[in-house]
Amino acid sequence: MYLLLIIVILVAIIALAAVWPMCFMHPLASGKVEGTDITAIKNRSNNLFFIPAGENWIVIDAGSDSRAVQSEMERLSIDAGKVLGVFLTHTDYDHVASLPLFSNATIYMSEQEKQMIDGSTYRQLIKKNKLPVCDADRIVYLPDNEVVELGGHRVRSIWVPGHTKGSAIYAVDEKYLFTGDAFKADKGRMTVHPYTMDRRRADESISKIENECSWYEKVYTAHYGIL
Ligand SMILES: [Zn+2]
Repeated sequence: MYLLLIIVILVAIIALAAVWPMCFMHPLASGKVEGTDITAIKNRSNNLFFIPAGENWIVIDAGSDSRAVQSEMERLSIDAGKVLGVFLTHTDYDHVASLPLFSNATIYMSEQEKQMIDGSTYRQLIKKNKLPVCDADRIVYLPDNEVVELGGHRVRSIWVPGHTKGSAIYAVDEKYLFTGDAFKADKGRMTVHPYTMDRRRADESISKIENECSWYEKVYTAHYGIL
């Protein structure tokens, strides 16, 4: 009886520790981001960002709940078929779930992140990351500092490993920076994001981002709004 109670308490502590960091996340509400032409969709604890590209869209990350993303897109009159490209900051489940909605899109991610989905690196113990798309031809792996010209925009990938082995951030038109989970915004300061695989490398990447950030009008995080 006591053993069972101890096991229940331990499981409860582990579960609480897993969800606790989410209590401090504060993504943007869905809708147009003030002062820009970018649309945010709030999906549970994070944001996807839609950048207009003429009649089409470029998307940063793909959320954790495909159905909720779909209904928000319908509400905001965004046609998933008009998404030209989805740029993934990394492949954790809360950034990839709605990829199947964007059936015409090319999926971009860092070359280093490939190890997270091909089985060569585990996210935790025996858990691998997965992309919910089976068409490998649609995935383009980007080197560091690679520029993709798409829909009239220039999207530059910047490698920032740490949170996952191949995390990347994206500079769009050298004006906006999308940083995914490369850091946690804590009262205006950048600190290591929860659930990070390699804290030392994440710290090095944060220094790299701090140098980069001064160049951009706005920095969009996945879980903490705009910096
Ligand atoms: Zn995340």
